[in-house]
Amino acid sequence: MERRIDFSRDRRMLCGACGHDWRVELDWIDRWDQGVETCPGCGMTCAHEDSPRVTADPADLALDDDRVARFFWYHTSTHPDWPRRNFDPAADLSAETRRMMGGDERVAVWAARQRAKALHVGTYEAAVHNMLRRIRDQADHDNQFYLYRVHLIPSVTVREGWLIDPSDFVGDVALADVCPPGIDVARYLNYHEDPGGLSLALGRNAITRVQGLAVPLPDAWDESWVHDAVAALANASDTELSTVLADRLPTNLRVQFAPAAAFAEGDDSEQWARCTSSLISLISDPGRVLAALDQQDFREVRV
Ligand SMILES: [Zn+2]
Repeated sequence: MERRIDFSRDRRMLCGACGHDWRVELDWIDRWDQGVETCPGCGMTCAHEDSPRVTADPADLALDDDRVARFFWYHTSTHPDWPRRNFDPAADLSAETRRMMGGDERVAVWAARQRAKALHVGTYEAAVHNMLRRIRDQADHDNQFYLYRVHLIPSVTVREGWLIDPSDFVGDVALADVCPPGIDVARYLNYHEDPGGLSLALGRNAITRVQGLAVPLPDAWDESWVHDAVAALANASDTELSTVLADRLPTNLRVQFAPAAAFAEGDDSEQWARCTSSLISLISDPGRVLAALDQQDFREVRV
């Protein structure tokens, strides 16, 4: 079952100091991050440790256990075959790396720990946020990404309530730490990707099948946007270019998106604009992406 996709929806805030909770627009969060807004309950600014943060929306349908298995979940990866069967994290290590890691025994322990990590799936919005973060922060700028629509087994057992974003602390989380025996999936609150949305930590066995698609779609650019962007680049005005970009994006993605779409000296402006426009279309026209996913074959995951 598909959920409504809305990158710009209001978020729920909760103050750690006074307990006040309330609904805000994305622009409010932007002003809050700049120190312009304060908690309506106690007047605290964002500079304090206990200051308000996004929290789960009590109206979020993913809080309903029965719906969790029926919803479609999403994941972005640079692997064309995620989630890999018989995944061997040590397969690509060179002899030199193995030696530096302390030998085969140590490598085996490390590999077992890698395999024991939870998988993560979330809303379509969270999957797109994740991809943009990876393009911006990590060495994935030129890598091909794949968007996966994840179908869970209908009988999954969902852990009660929700956890605080486990990746907030360590980046990765061991499945056993969030899903004790008898539990297949654990909901957690996102702070960084689709902030305020709920994602799932789960094992491979909770997934029945996936549909995958290379993203952004190869022919998804908007010709008039490309035209405007090329003109802005010809004027060599960074400001104009940021405006062209920002007009198409929700407030909380503008900062994230800019470096992901940064124009580098020597880039071909037309080609750059087409790539960037295709990337924007993941946000501005998700319906087109979902329609393309509908056409993809199912790949069975559970054996
Ligand atoms: Zn407060």
